Amino acid sequence: MVGFRLNDEQEALRSTVEEFAREVVAPVIGGFYERGEFPYDIVARMGKLGLFGLPFPEEYGGMGGDYLAFCLALHELARVDSSVAITLEAGVALGAMPIYRFGSAVQRDRWLPELCAGERLAAFGLTEPGGGSDIPGGMRTTARLDGDEWVIDGSKAFITNSGTDVTSVVTALAITGRSEGRPQISAIMVPSGTPGFTVGPEYSKVGWCCSDTRELAFSGCRVPHDHLLGEAGRGYAQFLQTLDEGRVAIAALAAGLAEGCVDECLRYAAQRTAFGHELAHYQAIQFKIADMAARAHVARLAWYDAAGRLLAGEPFKAEAAIAKLTCSNAAMDNARDATQIFGGYGFMNEFPVARFYRDAKVLEIGEGTSEVQRMVIARQLGLDRRD
Ligand SMILES: Cc1cc2nc3c(=O)[nH]c(=O)nc-3n(C[C@H](O)[C@H](O)[C@H](O)COP(=O)(O)OP(=O)(O)OC[C@H]3O[C@@H](n4cnc5c(N)ncnc54)[C@H](O)[C@@H]3O)c2cc1C
Repeated sequence: MVGFRLNDEQEALRSTVEEFAREVVAPVIGGFYERGEFPYDIVARMGKLGLFGLPFPEEYGGMGGDYLAFCLALHELARVDSSVAITLEAGVALGAMPIYRFGSAVQRDRWLPELCAGERLAAFGLTEPGGGSDIPGGMRTTARLDGDEWVIDGSKAFITNSGTDVTSVVTALAITGRSEGRPQISAIMVPSGTPGFTVGPEYSKVGWCCSDTRELAFSGCRVPHDHLLGEAGRGYAQFLQTLDEGRVAIAALAAGLAEGCVDECLRYAAQRTAFGHELAHYQAIQFKIADMAARAHVARLAWYDAAGRLLAGEPFKAEAAIAKLTCSNAAMDNARDATQIFGGYGFMNEFPVARFYRDAKVLEIGEGTSEVQRMVIARQLGLDRRD
């Protein structure tokens, strides 16, 4: 039997986050977006609500929930705004989760409580200026052991949450050796403010304008040996697991944006008039909104399915990639159609659909481009290309 209904606990969480997004985020987020200002107060309130601790055990200050609960929160936030949703997604799925999954007891005790509380943020540095999709081939950042310290040199590009006032640590992937001609990759935790670790200025972005994204530079940056996360040489495998889960989270975020477009259009089409009737009177508009609702529905089912498999401990690599691809397509298509329904107002930044339009594109790029999702799906279908 297939069941995609939320239980009472999940529904209670969903409606709590829906209300938070509507009452706390929606009234003010447009201003932060316009100013390109990180919304510290909203993020702190998300922390107090327990959102950053959702999938972590209570012993670390978490809520004792699971990945599906976390994805539900992302979906509901993204119905209103994607900058706050990606701040949560990156903080949990990319920042805290690798520490929880691969960290030692000492590392978990040191970092997780403040991350689960949302008082501090963590980041994950994989992408480099010379390559994101082509990892490990395109990776250049290195770390070598000198006595009992790692010495890190290199740079990272587009790293979310890496430069806020509350960022505590970035986990950076670096080449720490070679085996049979292949780079061995390890994950190393670099606390904010470590000498030799520089965080660049905030990028000027098309979308996600009040999230924090920066370039990082490491120059003779030294951290103690015990800042290695998990085993040396296992960083690539850790990163693949982190990204498989992260794709389900981004899929939920994209599905939320797709649904947010429907929400906005239902409201607007009921009150805007043209040629003597509300827009909703015209079948061309009804059909457009019906298509948007259908895409949002399928998107939701796609991430529910991937999250369900993840929770059941079943293989979910293909389903995560399918969900990421499907949901980001739905977000792009719905954002385009919603903007069209709003006419000229859809092109004005003060309207949420303009924000949705700007925010949708990156969903086809971050945490694996759509082409990379197709590569993953093709490989899972046995279509692996061998040169
Ligand atoms: C706002 C934002 C936030 C981000 N946050 C983070 C973060 O927190 N941490 C992090 O590590 N990274 C982060 N990223 C980076 C993101 O994951 C990468 O941008 C993405 O993986 C693509 O890598 P790239 O930009 O180097 O593009 P490239 O890898 O250079 O790809 C360029 C184009 O070529 C295509 N392509 C590449 N190889 C192939 C192939 N073999 N066949 C067909 N097409 C191919 C790609 O699909 C893409 O369309 C973020 C990016 C953005 C924009």
